[in-house]
This record gives sequence, C-alpha cells and structure tokens, in this order.
Amino acid sequence: MRIKRVSAGLFVLLLTLMLAAVAVPAALAQSGFRPIVLPATTSVAPNALPDLAKLASAPRYAIDLTLDPANLSYTGRQTITYTNTDTTPLTDIVLRVFPNSCALYGCGELKVTGATVGGQPATTTSDLENTALRVTLPRPVAPGQKVDVTLDFQGRVPTNFGPDRQGYGIYNYGPALQTLMLANAYPVLAVRQNGQWVADPVYPDGDAVFSPTAFYDVSVTLPGGWSPVATGSVISDVGADGTRTVRYSSGPARDFMLAVAPNWNKVSQQVGETTVNSYYLGDTQAAAEKALDVGVKSMEIYSQRFGPYPFRQLDIVPAPLFKAAGVEYPGLVLIEAAYYSKPNDPSFETTVAHEVAHQWWYSTVGNDVIKSPWLDEALTQYASAIYFEDRYGKDRFNRLISGWERAVDSLVAKGEDDIVGEGLAHFEGGNRYGPVVYIKGPLFFHAIRQRLGDEAFYRGLQSYYQQNKYGIATPERLVAAFNGAGGPRIDDLFDKWILKAEGR
Ligand SMILES: [Zn+2]
Repeated sequence: MRIKRVSAGLFVLLLTLMLAAVAVPAALAQSGFRPIVLPATTSVAPNALPDLAKLASAPRYAIDLTLDPANLSYTGRQTITYTNTDTTPLTDIVLRVFPNSCALYGCGELKVTGATVGGQPATTTSDLENTALRVTLPRPVAPGQKVDVTLDFQGRVPTNFGPDRQGYGIYNYGPALQTLMLANAYPVLAVRQNGQWVADPVYPDGDAVFSPTAFYDVSVTLPGGWSPVATGSVISDVGADGTRTVRYSSGPARDFMLAVAPNWNKVSQQVGETTVNSYYLGDTQAAAEKALDVGVKSMEIYSQRFGPYPFRQLDIVPAPLFKAAGVEYPGLVLIEAAYYSKPNDPSFETTVAHEVAHQWWYSTVGNDVIKSPWLDEALTQYASAIYFEDRYGKDRFNRLISGWERAVDSLVAKGEDDIVGEGLAHFEGGNRYGPVVYIKGPLFFHAIRQRLGDEAFYRGLQSYYQQNKYGIATPERLVAAFNGAGGPRIDDLFDKWILKAEGR
C-alpha cells in the first residue's frame, strides 16, 4: 500500500518530499468438486514455469462468484484443496473473511452459509470480530494428505468506504465511476506456521492479508454491461442470456483481486514475457498511458535489478481509494482514481512505481504484513527510489534520499522517531506508522547499499528474491541474504535502523 492521507504535521512533511520529488469453466458443477485447471501457461511467464514443480503442495482455490452489481451483492462457492504440510495430523483449517471488518473493508459483509469437507458437513466457528473462520475437519488429515473444503458464501459491498469512511476502498462501490472493488470477496486461507494458524486482527493502518501462495481458478458471472478485471489471465469468456461468465487462472498468487465496472478501457504494452495493461474509465486515456509508461519502465528496472516477474500479465487499475494512494495485489495494482484527472501530480508516478515494486516484495516474496509490515513496505519504497534513479539519474535519486534523511531528522527533533521493526499493533492509534516505515525504513536499505556497494547489494537482493520466492520471508532471512552477498556483514545496521529508535 502507499499511504495517501495523513495527519496535518505529516502532510506538511510529505508535501515537502513531494516537492522535492518534483525537483526530483465452465459453470460450477452444481454438486461436488469442480476439477481445477492446471496452472495455465496462459498466466505463468516462461521464466517461472520451472518453479511450478516446487509448488505441488500449494493450496488450490476453485471459486465461482455470481455478482449482482445493481444490488452490491454476490454469492459464491469455493473449494480449497489443502495439503497438510505439517508433520502431525491436521484437525482444522482457518480462513479469513476480511470484508466483515470495518477497518479497511468499510464494514462490508462476507457470510459463510455452508461448509463441507470432502463432501461431509463440517462445523465452523468465528473469531476476531467475525474476520476469522475455523473449519473443524470431520476427520484429521494425515501429513502429506489433501483435503477439500467447500464453502458457500454471500457478500454485500459498502458504498463510498462504508460508514465513517473506514474502508480503503478495496471492498467498495464508488458511485461516481460505478466501480465495484471486490478485494477478498471470498474466504482466504490463513498462513500455517510452526503447526499453528496465524490470524491477527485487522488494524486501521497497513495491510490485512497474510496468506500463502496458492493457485486460483475463478469463474465470475455477472450481468452483461459489466466487465471484470482480475488477478491472473482470462481462460474463457462466455456470454449467454444477458450474463457473462469470465474464468481466470492465476499463477502462484497470494490473493485474488477483482475489480468490476461497466466500461473498462485499456492501453497495453508488452515488456519481455509480460503484458502490462493500464485500465481507465471515461476520458482519462492520457493518464492511463502515463501509468502504462511508468508500469512498463518500472517492470523493466525491477526485473533487471531484482529478478524476473513471474506472470504474463500485470494490470494497473484506477479505483476510488481512501487513505491509500495505491494498493497492491498479485498481478494487479489499484491506483487512486483521482490521479487520473491530474496525471502530472508527482505522486501519480511515485504511486505506480511503488505498487509495481510490491509485485516483488509482498506478492512474490511474502512476509507477515501484520508483524513485520516494514519488510515489504520499506523495501518497496526503496525500490521506487531505484526506479527514479535508474530512469532519471543519480541526482534525482540523491534528492529523494536527502529528502527522507531530512524527514527522519525532523521526526527525531519532534520526539516522534520510532522502531521501524514494530508490528501494526504497536503503531495503532498514532501517526508514526507512515513516516517511520515508509521514510525511515527505506534508509535502512540505503545504508546497506552504501556499505556493500552496488554489486553485493543487488546480489543480496536477488538472492533474497530467489530464496524466498512464493514463500514467507522474515527479517532474519533478509539479513542473511545480505550477509551472504560477499561483502561485509550488516547485523549492526539492522540493529540500528530496524530494532532501535535512534534517528539515522
Ligand atoms: Zn506499499
């Protein structure tokens, strides 16, 4: 995510930085399990095809969604095929039903109306303000064995960020543009770590989705006159009787995002193995072309610096957002729609470059975005500085870095410095999350680069990417990647920048 609206004090600070930046299938079989398609080569880039063999035990979602946009509601059925990768029998499965949260999702609704496991009825219990659902398995599942969990559900989407404007707009209807954003409109598998399901509350800042890499086969049925954009690639698109059913297949993805509007237009460009699509509504084609240009250039730069992007497609999609300038999903990024009427706003380019970088840090390399939000956000922010450096030159980059340095000094002077490595719970209720994670955090990566030099720095980042691709990285794994990059160790930098609040 990229933060948009902040407290007055921080706003002045960010304004200063912005000014510096200027200078600078088939329908569901009605009963039983619909076999999932194999990860289609239509969605996985050739460079990533060899990775698929390592993902044989990744969860698989087969989801059928039927949308009723006029009533801001939908129904769905999904079967998750889950392999028990623990060394002990598995007795339950935990899913997240995020839209029930008021924080971030605007008090929407996602109600599970039925659950079966391997065709047998299963009991469920709710937790975490109805954002977590535990499905008790009728029989324990032995290590290495698979289980099919089928859930029926129905959902309702709020308008204009919900009551008290608590939502980001990721699960929301925006009447002005008639956009329907459907983030996490299905129960999302939680992460299983050390024999436990990891499920945290949804906090009012940062991101909520901490999920395993999975394969998605999603069929979306909606009235004619509405069109979807989603994670993955379209494998079929069939119209009948005034409705349309579009089926998507994802590569190895952590989430599935769906955005619906009456009339998406798009401009596209091929970059290596990937097509970048930049969507727009109405007469904002020029802005979409700008977003496409930034998307294409950032894709080239990050692929060269960090490692190849694994999908054949990347979609850049405008959305009315609140508190966030952009939000990342696998293969799809949301960009605040207001930028499309002011494409020369420097934050437009910064936001697109930031969200595209999340395809490497968050999407492909995952991390616990609740306990270590800095791990993807600070690195993504530094990656966007690399975009400006590689595209526009060292002067532009240096101005960006010194702007961040001045901002950190200002935080220290105001007594508002804090520990970058803290989780969302620590920052709740305050206004330090943005500046500490997004401004001080990236300077940690700059400090590493200054110590290691460019060659070892990028070697370390590339090895971090390769070693944690599709998995869950940790701060320790990041430090290990840089320590193993052939230069000096960086443990003291981690201590100083991430674990302490000592300024810079
Ligand atoms: Zn972000």
